[in-house]
Amino acid sequence: MRKRTFALAGAAAGLAALLIGPGVIAQQQASVNSGEVNVYSYRQPFLIQPMFDAFTRDTGVKVNVVFAKKGLVERLKQEGRNSPADLIFTVDIGRLNDAYDSGVTAPVETAQLTANIPAAFRQADGHWYGLTQRARIIYASKDRVSKDDAPKSYEELADPKWAGRICTRAGNHVYQVALTAAMIAHHGEEKAEAWLRGLKSNLARKPQGNDRAQVKAISEGECDISLGNNYYFGLMLQNKEQFAWAQAVYPVFPTIDDTGTHVNISGMALTKASPNRDNAVMLMEFLTGDLAQQMYSEQNFEYPVVAGVPQAGLLRSMGELKADTMALDRVAALRADAFKLVDKVGYND
Ligand code: FE
Repeated sequence: MRKRTFALAGAAAGLAALLIGPGVIAQQQASVNSGEVNVYSYRQPFLIQPMFDAFTRDTGVKVNVVFAKKGLVERLKQEGRNSPADLIFTVDIGRLNDAYDSGVTAPVETAQLTANIPAAFRQADGHWYGLTQRARIIYASKDRVSKDDAPKSYEELADPKWAGRICTRAGNHVYQVALTAAMIAHHGEEKAEAWLRGLKSNLARKPQGNDRAQVKAISEGECDISLGNNYYFGLMLQNKEQFAWAQAVYPVFPTIDDTGTHVNISGMALTKASPNRDNAVMLMEFLTGDLAQQMYSEQNFEYPVVAGVPQAGLLRSMGELKADTMALDRVAALRADAFKLVDKVGYND
């Protein structure tokens, strides 16, 4: 029931957050420093609730979540020192950096956090920590693309042999922007532009829909290749309606510049105003522990960022992830340039 409420809130985005906001906040302000921790989340609650529940079982500390698709950083800014929020959860390195740049986060370093999270997956001063890794992979039609033929790199997606056979979501979505930024990081702007033009010219249809909608289009014969985050494979297999979409494709882990597959992260940041700082840090440490890391993998099909934590069986069956080694903050720094390229080549037209 709880899940449903939050899913509905998600559908109505920021407005819903405002609607559910006041009640939650009132409740939160009344209970500051009484065994609670308050989370602002851009991540859908069902993706993080199981780990929060495990934390509450473990510590007795209650986790209150306010979910919104956008506007949470702005809200933190407006609330300033009076904000009830302790932690902010989001996906995409760019959004983590945005929160940091906006001045709403606080640095935090504990022996456990820095030991658990590799340096590549946390802000140097502890302003944010990565929690999961997700790979942007290729989905290929089982019927129309042989394994030998399937593109082995993102670069190959610009090859004219794929003309009219590729589906992607809009070029200005955070997932596509990060990939384009990674192309700029590896190849420079000129080559990245040529690549984006090539990819655009191979599209079977105007960019539209989310990652799963592209796989659906493959299952319906509209295209043969798509780009999507790896965890959607698992989510589709668990969904009655979408199972058939996933059955129509197989995953390919492409390389970028012959290195590895483009990855991004989800993560968390402590807020500057955090009224329940001790509980917040306790939750941060819990989420970087082996149990929570394994739960993320088993339930969301994301990759743990903590070394040595076993991956979900489905992830192992999909193939081995060898991630691009390009520093994620370098990719994040090129997002603005990537946005410009998307506009310049008229990717969404
Ligand atoms: Fe996603």
